[in-house]
Amino acid sequence: MSQRLLIDNVRVRYGEAVALDGVSLDVSAGAVVAVVGPSGCGKSTLLRCIAGLEPLASGRVELGGRDLAGVPTHERDLGLMFQDHALFPHLSVSANVSFGLSMQGRSAAEQRARSEELLDLVGLGGFGDRSVGSLSGGEAQRVALARALAPSPGLLMLDEPLGSLDRVLREQLTADLRRLVRELGITALHVTHDQAEAFALADHIVVLREGRIEQQGPPEALWRSPVNRFVAEFLGHPNLWRFGGAFVLAPITTISVAADGEIIATVEDREFAEGQHRLIGRVDEAPDTDLVGQRIVFRSDVGPAIGDRVGLHLSAPPRALEGMSPGDTSES
Ligand code: ADP
Ligand code: MG
Repeated sequence: MSQRLLIDNVRVRYGEAVALDGVSLDVSAGAVVAVVGPSGCGKSTLLRCIAGLEPLASGRVELGGRDLAGVPTHERDLGLMFQDHALFPHLSVSANVSFGLSMQGRSAAEQRARSEELLDLVGLGGFGDRSVGSLSGGEAQRVALARALAPSPGLLMLDEPLGSLDRVLREQLTADLRRLVRELGITALHVTHDQAEAFALADHIVVLREGRIEQQGPPEALWRSPVNRFVAEFLGHPNLWRFGGAFVLAPITTISVAADGEIIATVEDREFAEGQHRLIGRVDEAPDTDLVGQRIVFRSDVGPAIGDRVGLHLSAPPRALEGMSPGDTSES
């Protein structure tokens, strides 16, 4: 049964280093929460301490109203899934899925039925007798998900579960995961460094930075009102400028190759993605603004070279971001 997760002022240390510093989080039963942040910010540590794999220096973790202090990992009512799916190589697919159930002492018939049910659910009906070694990467991750879900845990925790897959598989599995967690109504904590994955899956997003929660809230609210430059850039706002005493978000600009436009910039970097050139420039001229010297990101069907000067037009007027103070200097 889905449970509410309550994390209260948790601190975790590795020797002198503080990996989590006063983290509090309230995840209601059935909610899907994404924890995002750059590598090393403490995402895995958060999951590990909820699982009882790292001791708390202080604070409290409760699941379904039960304080988890002193409760061993296997009695915490959790389903865990990690990037390296860590299936048991000597067991069949079916035995992997029902592993948690056999630990709970369920009958062989029960294990078989539940395993078939879960494999159907993750789109692997009929795979039960296969050996783990015969699975593709995407299939193995589906088996790992079925295994995590089989005992109907109160909380499902996923640590970058799609990180090792290629993009197409990742998008497919993201969609399946979204359908699954909604259908099952399971409480889920999903860790990822990929903001797009977080937006695709979560009802609530938590942005971690150096062991602290920088901001949390519903995806739309975070996107509309990032509290600072770090959050805005991490969520993927490309053009964030100080403009007339406010932080503004400039929509992707259109480009003319001739060096005329509202903004003149020099191309500093380029990549080709989804049929278009994505370019990063530095603003040289922008009359009546304070944009000179700032970074600008834009897309173009034509690909100017690095070092070219280009003229840019805004495709819509810049929009002020709510909530971000123009005095905010915190950089990423
Ligand atoms: P993330 O999952 O966001 O990449 P982690 O939770 O793995 O971050 O790590 C947070 C910080 O704690 C990092 O600085 C990392 O180097 C450090 N850390 C993680 N695990 C250990 C450990 N077992 N011993 C010492 N330091 C660790
Ligand atoms: Mg990690």
